[in-house]
Amino acid sequence: MQLVIFGPPGVGKGTLSDMLASKYKIPHISTGDIFRAEIKSGNSEFVQYVEKGLLVPDSVVNKVIEKALKQENFKNGFVLDGYPRTTEQAEFLENVLWKLKKKIDLVLNLVASEDEIIKRLTARRNCGKCGALYNLITMKPKKKDICGKCGSPLVQRKDDEPETVRKRIQVYQQETAPLIDYYKKKKILIDIDASPKPKEVFNSAADAVERKIPKQQ
Ligand SMILES: [Zn+2]
Repeated sequence: MQLVIFGPPGVGKGTLSDMLASKYKIPHISTGDIFRAEIKSGNSEFVQYVEKGLLVPDSVVNKVIEKALKQENFKNGFVLDGYPRTTEQAEFLENVLWKLKKKIDLVLNLVASEDEIIKRLTARRNCGKCGALYNLITMKPKKKDICGKCGSPLVQRKDDEPETVRKRIQVYQQETAPLIDYYKKKKILIDIDASPKPKEVFNSAADAVERKIPKQQ
């Protein structure tokens, strides 16, 4: 079973992907992990873009993804998060899977309002010293703005400031709108409301999987 998870930053893609991966006993592939592994392995073509802070072109990203998907541990399927990002990447993915006699079974599109996402992301804090993560809504520090582990002040990542978050959401929407249409036309995209708690989001996602792919029950 091949699943793809879509959703704006901060909507809970990673958490949902992990939960689905463990329920259906298939690995969770996050592009973040694949890219970090590429950097570690010293793939010079890939690293030269990352080092210069440039956007890695589709052709290079695609090669890296193809290599990853051909690995033995993905032969029974996967939950893919962070890819594809463009229609060209989606077409490439379809082609790679076709060669492996596979296809994307279902795309779960996590949906939450901009206000909800901003509320969640701007509540994130981390310790400037030990890196411990907090969330002012879901994982409050015991003492206001102080790390419970090492006593250092908590800081907010620049990425999580409201203006930056708004911009990240806009970029995401512009980028993925054509992709959502692409998968809607193929009738394999299902919207999932990402506003409830992770467990409830997971239940709706698992329901959708089992409706679409009944043999998984
Ligand atoms: Zn700390």
